[in-house]
Amino acid sequence: MNLISDYITEMRPQDILMPVAAGLCCKPGGFHIDPVRPVERAVITHGHSDHARPGHGAVLATQETLDMMRLRYGDHFAGRTQAIRYGESIKLGDVTIKFHPAGHVLGSAQIAVSCKDTCIVASGDYKDAPDPTCAPFELVPCDVFITEATFGLPVFRHGDASDEIRKLLASVALFPERAHLVGAYSLGKAQRVIALIRKAGYDAPIYLHGAMEKITRYYESRGVALGDLRRVKGMKKADLAGTITLAPPSATSDIWTRRFPDPVTAFASGWMRVRARARQRGVELPLVISDHADWDGLTATIDATGAGEVWVTHGQEDALVHWCTAKGLTARPLDLVGYGDEDEADAVPANEDAEA
Ligand SMILES: [Zn+2]
Repeated sequence: MNLISDYITEMRPQDILMPVAAGLCCKPGGFHIDPVRPVERAVITHGHSDHARPGHGAVLATQETLDMMRLRYGDHFAGRTQAIRYGESIKLGDVTIKFHPAGHVLGSAQIAVSCKDTCIVASGDYKDAPDPTCAPFELVPCDVFITEATFGLPVFRHGDASDEIRKLLASVALFPERAHLVGAYSLGKAQRVIALIRKAGYDAPIYLHGAMEKITRYYESRGVALGDLRRVKGMKKADLAGTITLAPPSATSDIWTRRFPDPVTAFASGWMRVRARARQRGVELPLVISDHADWDGLTATIDATGAGEVWVTHGQEDALVHWCTAKGLTARPLDLVGYGDEDEADAVPANEDAEA
């Protein structure tokens, strides 16, 4: 005999999480994940501005993500906040959520949402490549895996970030009379590039654009060692010969660069795999370094989660959906709007840029 409870335990995944205009909505839990519009209760994966927006009634996130939101938006970025640690479970309504490292930036998390016998993992942005500035990606077995697809095409293979850093340091050695200006997004990428430069044995001062400073100092305060960092502001042009400066990508193509002697412009991004993009931006030294999983990383991760169903979002959904379907998995694009990723957006908030 079938009991009513037998039916109730078989909850469909879309009854647990559903894409709506504000983002991914968990009705039985009464919250949204990474909402793009102000909501009552937000659960946030990481601090990038397309995922972590101000104006929610309540925000649940890792301490690092909450701190980054505070640094960016000020003390009143949300009505209430609650910090959650990796591995910690919290019951919200009829569901239980648990945070796991996503390996994307400091404090970034995958959010496992469990209801009855079904576990859905919303991974936010993630990478499976090593990164000395954040906790490594943790594989979470689940029934439904929600994956990003920023680099969801087989052409995207990032390679080893250390090799790219070697290219940068070889160029610095080759052109001692020139300054090296490295474009990198100010949350995550910049600190990873600095840490990799240090790992490669470079111990001279590294200079920072003003927009990098707050977040970089925050990383240091959380125990990420980055060596001797200095403000580029106030430096004499001649003294910047042979040095490395990190700056937001938008700054590397504007009038700001005139303070550097004959600068070599580099840009650290997964998009630098596409040579036309590098040329278009006037990048002399493209560095293929990404905080997102590449094609191999995405497919290996999907495989390893054991999920029978995959939801694909923000990026190149089609190829990944096709790959899943060919493997016999149920897959669909989520069609969420508003996640261009700040990795792409290039924008520097006006107040951060002012200091430059
Ligand atoms: Zn991100």
